[in-house]
Amino acid sequence: MTRKIQIFDTTLRDGEQSPGASMNTEEKLVVARELLRLNVDVIEAGFPISSPGDFESVRRIAELAGDQATVCALTRAVEKDIDSAADALKYAKRPRIHTGIGVSPSHLQDKLRITEEECLKRTAHCVSYAKQFVEDVQFYAEDAGRSDYDFLVRVIQTAIDNGATVVNIPDTTGYSLPEEFGRRIKYLMDNVNGIENVTVAVHCHNDLGMATALAMEGVKNGATQIECTINGLGERAGNTAMEEVVMAIRMHEQELDAHTDVNTREFLKASRLVSSITGMNVQANKAIVGANAFAHSSGIHQDGVLKKRDTYEIIDPADVGAGQSQIVLTARSGHAALKHRLEELGYELDGEALDQVYGAFLDLADKKKEVYDEDLESLVNERDRNENAIYMLEGVQISCGFPLTPTATVTLRNQADQVVTACEFGTGPIDAMCKAVDKIVQVDNDLTEYAVQSVTRGIDALGEVTIRVTDPSGSIYTGRGADGDIVVSSTKAYLNALNRLLNDKKEHRR
Ligand SMILES: [Zn+2]
Repeated sequence: MTRKIQIFDTTLRDGEQSPGASMNTEEKLVVARELLRLNVDVIEAGFPISSPGDFESVRRIAELAGDQATVCALTRAVEKDIDSAADALKYAKRPRIHTGIGVSPSHLQDKLRITEEECLKRTAHCVSYAKQFVEDVQFYAEDAGRSDYDFLVRVIQTAIDNGATVVNIPDTTGYSLPEEFGRRIKYLMDNVNGIENVTVAVHCHNDLGMATALAMEGVKNGATQIECTINGLGERAGNTAMEEVVMAIRMHEQELDAHTDVNTREFLKASRLVSSITGMNVQANKAIVGANAFAHSSGIHQDGVLKKRDTYEIIDPADVGAGQSQIVLTARSGHAALKHRLEELGYELDGEALDQVYGAFLDLADKKKEVYDEDLESLVNERDRNENAIYMLEGVQISCGFPLTPTATVTLRNQADQVVTACEFGTGPIDAMCKAVDKIVQVDNDLTEYAVQSVTRGIDALGEVTIRVTDPSGSIYTGRGADGDIVVSSTKAYLNALNRLLNDKKEHRR
């Protein structure tokens, strides 16, 4: 039997920290359910001290996971952070506190302004302090990738001596070269007493495009936990992509002496779900989950793959859940059929929620006849986006063309049930629509990105619009909207972004 590599997912913590990818508690729960279907070992659910929303997400995910997965909460090496994490994890069946401190010269001198001795003292204290609350304490040595080898040995030794059960060696800045990073892990394995009795984890960033390679070098040299995210979401250039490391381990199980327990058939769905919720689109040539990952356009390749798949394809698309999209439902399908198919897709909807999605489904089925899984996912996500909305779209009407002046009339309903209509003209239909919405919502922002994508193939497909706005403080908010009419999707997406901005402001005022 090969070594079991634990998959520690941090989509909800590190992933959520990527600019414009913030999720509310309901959205995080949807992702957490998918993580449980993927059968990951650990879910890092958030950073409880950072906001009431993060605290609540950790608490609810801990409840949801039961004994299916370890639920982990992040802290700094600060008592109040650890208290808050312990509190959020109070009802978790398998709680883990993730605490730690910067260890590189840059972090010690410029960020923390402390000596090496002070850093060791804080390491000992944060681990033993967390240990009062939970048995499972994970320690991270932030920016380990740029730290001194011997000092890192002393820090990790201190963490283990004080009861850490997992030690996390992150390349926080994505600076390392794979071979050197592997050497670092090996150095720890050879020089820290008792390291064989704890789990060694790697957490790598993709600033040089090497996150997956770094994680694999870690595994080769003794790490048995990989921290990663769906689609490689994460700070800056992102984190290690779960689908990449898991498939790499699967392709090379014997050489690496490693396996994972991840249900890889969920990868495509998980990827679509996370990109739909966060508005972070996946590039077409992304490994494993990109739209082109299994597409062959050269005649020579096509001929080869048709004769025998593995001439040009190392992965069976079915193993990652690709190529299974089917026509599932039509306008004649009833409530029960829809509920059943949604359950197969992993969505549990009842009562009013199911009625709302059914209504939207009938509308869509009327227009486009054949409804695919991706359409259903889009409808459910559309409904979720309307939860907690401060402004709802009641109507939008646009007139544009040549030589008309583009004009938009928008009607919105606020939470007090007041209906307001505004009319504006602009340089184009989207500009006119945004101006009309702004006239009602009146929140300062800059629209920085606009993209439209079709959910499925065909001229009658749903159009999904992603909009990013930046508020005066520089925070980025992403909005999405789906509809058969892209003017309507655009309006929904813009409102979704503004609703997120407004909700975020409300939360931080508390
Ligand atoms: Zn990170």
